[in-house]
Amino acid sequence: MITVYCPHCYTANPENSEACAQCGCSLQHEEEKRFVEKLIWALKHPEPTVGPRAAWVLGERREAQAVDALITTVESSEEMALLEEAVVALGKIADPRAVPCLEQSLRQSYLSVRQRAAWALGRIGGPAVIDALKLALEDPNQTVREAALESLSNLSHRAGRSS
Ligand SMILES: [Zn+2]
Repeated sequence: MITVYCPHCYTANPENSEACAQCGCSLQHEEEKRFVEKLIWALKHPEPTVGPRAAWVLGERREAQAVDALITTVESSEEMALLEEAVVALGKIADPRAVPCLEQSLRQSYLSVRQRAAWALGRIGGPAVIDALKLALEDPNQTVREAALESLSNLSHRAGRSS
């Protein structure tokens, strides 16, 4: 049987318990943590549809603790669907640590991944991002150039509002 340890008194409770049988403290947080860990684990799943779906869910949940795993995925995977979703997730979470791997994807990856990297970098922003997006205006593919242009224009609007 899978057990969940109470973060308070270390009592082993059955999986899916809402509260600790010993002290009554909530176990929902532990459940949540385990769910996110499972999603991160699933990024490397051999079944090709599982990883992309996990990446999508992590992005929708804006899971900051998944950023490192998503970066590793973008740096190491060659699966197009997984790369697409991991790049989008990093854009949604918008952690600046993701900028170098997204720049790399923008320069050299599948067309659909370059396009998403342009979008994701636009969500994160910052001076380094603007240089990378300007370079992408020379991308051989029009969809990528358009995505880069849109991100640049969104970023300049944002800068205009804050100054
Ligand atoms: Zn307890």
